[in-house]
Amino acid sequence: MTRLDLAEDSLFGLANLPYGVYSVPGQTPRVATRLGDQVIDLAALTGEDVFARPSLNPFMASGRGSWVEVRARIARLVRGEVSPEAVHPLDAVRMHLPFEVADYVDYYASEHHAANLGRLFRPHNPDPLMPNWKHLPVGYHGRSASIVVSGTDIVRPNGQRKPPAEDAPVFGPTTRLDIEAEVGFVVGTGNAMGHPIAVDAAEDHIFGLVLFNDWSARDIQAWEYVPLGPNLGKSFASTISPWVVPLLALDHARVATPPQEPEVLPYLRLDRPWGLDLRLEVEWNGQVVSRPPYASMYWSPAQMLAHQTVNGAPTRTGDLFASGTVSGPAKDQRGAFIELTWGGAEPVLVGGEERSFLEDGDEVVLRAVAPGPEGAWIGFGEARGRIVPAPVEPPS
Ligand code: CA
Repeated sequence: MTRLDLAEDSLFGLANLPYGVYSVPGQTPRVATRLGDQVIDLAALTGEDVFARPSLNPFMASGRGSWVEVRARIARLVRGEVSPEAVHPLDAVRMHLPFEVADYVDYYASEHHAANLGRLFRPHNPDPLMPNWKHLPVGYHGRSASIVVSGTDIVRPNGQRKPPAEDAPVFGPTTRLDIEAEVGFVVGTGNAMGHPIAVDAAEDHIFGLVLFNDWSARDIQAWEYVPLGPNLGKSFASTISPWVVPLLALDHARVATPPQEPEVLPYLRLDRPWGLDLRLEVEWNGQVVSRPPYASMYWSPAQMLAHQTVNGAPTRTGDLFASGTVSGPAKDQRGAFIELTWGGAEPVLVGGEERSFLEDGDEVVLRAVAPGPEGAWIGFGEARGRIVPAPVEPPS
């Protein structure tokens, strides 16, 4: 038996204890937690078969009572003696998609982002926000099958786009490939059809959080999005971080959301703080270009989940909903390059070059931290992706 390094000063200390799915060569993937740079096999640590699986879904489906009990047990067990076979160095394992993604919905919860995009896409409208924006969290249904884990290469998508000077669309690789720095919320236990989740019950259903990069082809999106919203401009790939940070770890990160005016309908009213002080960072080719503050988000995840189900729609284990681009009020807090460079009109310097959108070979990494108890900080790890060229021969 061995004793673990409790990694007190790490972003992955005892305050975090996230869940992920790892493998070592020759073994099938299994659920683990991370303490510092140690990956700890949870079936070996706890004796629970629910963790000897290639996804978190069976454990997430066990419900909030079980999440609370198991988290306390893990925190106790890692302080004791542990079988050396249960522990692997982080750089010796491969991380996988941590859960099977059921349905996926993407929201648009940042007022700063929605207003900036309104100004860019509809410059002649006096109000950059659409009339519904402050009454409901706007979202669209996305594609769960193309959600990939950090480190997966992103193939530049081909598609239809219509350059402003042309009369007809052309086909080819996107020339305006962008990112959206977001936070994803994983549903652990869902609701039955016809039984909406009340806004005050959201924490019984939300298991945890991941970083989410909603890669976006702006030229494809601009041509296709009216009137039904984004489709192929978004659905080619989205990257998530491999460690799911439990909502239970984020009590100290709770903050009030910004005041909501006009007052929202009763089913969206919250009687306690549901904002989250998550501090994001966007790195482009090794250089930090933005630090979006999640605390500035207008709509909370509890409101998004209540809205998602208020029509009676069911949710289930593994459903993922993302926040929409996190953008703060300052220019260097914008979470998408189309905003950061104002549609390409104000390029940023990346590695000495003026850049507006992504080129082949570029790499983007999202990171985030949140305050934990007693001065500790909780890390989210990374959501990393590198752009590789579009297929040379598009289908004819
Ligand atoms: Ca998005």
